[in-house]
Amino acid sequence: MNNYSLPPFKIKMVEPIKLISREERIERLKKAGFNPFRLKSEDVFIDLLTDSGTGAMSHFQWAALMMGDEAYAGSRSFFRLEETVKDITGYKYVIPAHQGRGAEQVALPNLIKRPGMYVISNIHFDTTRAHVELAGGRAIDCVCKECFDLELDYPFKGNFDILKLESLIKQKGKENIAAIIMTITNNSAGGQPVSLANMKEVNRIAKTNGIPVVIDGARYAENAYFIKLREDGYQNKTVKEIAKETFDLADIFLMSSKKDGLVNIGGLIAIKDNEEFFRLCQVRVIPMEGFPTYGGLSGRDMDALAVGLKEALEEDYLQYRLDEIRYLGDKLQAGGVPIQYPTGGHAVFVDCGAICPQIPFDQFPAQVVCNELYLEGGIRAVEIGSLLLGRDPDTHENLKADKEFLRLTIPRRTYTLEHLNYVAECLIKVAKKGPQFKGLDFVYESPILRHFTAEFKPKE
Ligand SMILES: *Cc1c(COP(=O)(O)O)cnc(C)c1O
Repeated sequence: MNNYSLPPFKIKMVEPIKLISREERIERLKKAGFNPFRLKSEDVFIDLLTDSGTGAMSHFQWAALMMGDEAYAGSRSFFRLEETVKDITGYKYVIPAHQGRGAEQVALPNLIKRPGMYVISNIHFDTTRAHVELAGGRAIDCVCKECFDLELDYPFKGNFDILKLESLIKQKGKENIAAIIMTITNNSAGGQPVSLANMKEVNRIAKTNGIPVVIDGARYAENAYFIKLREDGYQNKTVKEIAKETFDLADIFLMSSKKDGLVNIGGLIAIKDNEEFFRLCQVRVIPMEGFPTYGGLSGRDMDALAVGLKEALEEDYLQYRLDEIRYLGDKLQAGGVPIQYPTGGHAVFVDCGAICPQIPFDQFPAQVVCNELYLEGGIRAVEIGSLLLGRDPDTHENLKADKEFLRLTIPRRTYTLEHLNYVAECLIKVAKKGPQFKGLDFVYESPILRHFTAEFKPKE
């Protein structure tokens, strides 16, 4: 096992999975319109569609569920959650939400006070961008250029481009910037981390210009562990201390707890000290999510989350988590599969433009490789490329993504290295056949978020 760590848990409850035959896989994929989103999970052997809400809870979390207080208002479960979040963030106010986008729909419109205001992020996650736009704002991404160099060995590919950030603020006018959102880790660019040095610069620029700073921190614990591993001066700090230092650099924390909350559903809004902003969120959460002491969650959900937030900061857990991703990346690289390197926190991103260069972007090379991977091994991955990007709203032309990625997303505490070995073997086989594959044509395409429901047929 040389330099990969061992799992800091053993298995107490199992959920059977089954590999259906190749003939059945062919038939199911055809029926699903060559779109793995449309497959039934029982027809999938290893499901790497997403790490969102797909992980395993610990026995402490299952025990905590039994303590859920289902009072509509002021439940004990809420106060346990609030105490945990305050302890981790150092923030004064906490409001639960049903998931990340719930937190976004409550908080973001309170920041975007006038239509046309700008929000700047390293890279907006897609629901975050959608909520900025729904609130009348415009989302601008401002990530460092190292982010797009797939093979460059750079420790913090999620960082902001600081010079670009400063010039954007000058160009648009500081009074027109509603917020700066630090997405940690940077989900849309491979779960790549952001350094504390970079976040300090972002905070300094924001404060000089009077702009609020938001952390979109679905994977803040993974980010903190990357800092411990890679940033000078943090090797002897605990992950919790590093996380605290991170939260000190922002005013508002939004979280999809389906990631580093280690639960299957949940979200959070935490506010450092701005009482007026807290009141605005408190008013808005009631019609959108629910009363401010439950925000769309049951009491038991909040108790499981209170425990999960603490477990996600445990260093043996984080070490194994990041090692699992690195392990899969190393196997694929050794087998000649082109990936984003170094691997990020929650997934391995595979460069399908390089695997099947003969397929044009608007016939979706990464979707083709996804389908072939399912046929080969019953493995479900997801396209993160031109299919996901969609069409230009004005010209209606297909937009071309920078990279045609296939994402192998690893659920937390769910699969073993044997499963990952199998995934690597199957994908190495598929990649070798890449130059023979044909592209896809739409049979059905929905006008928004088309990747979820689209149906295709293979090119003749
Ligand atoms: C998942 C995610 C969200 C949205 O959260 P949901 O729980 O899926 O609604 C927002 N931002 C980031 C960075 C995410 O990864």
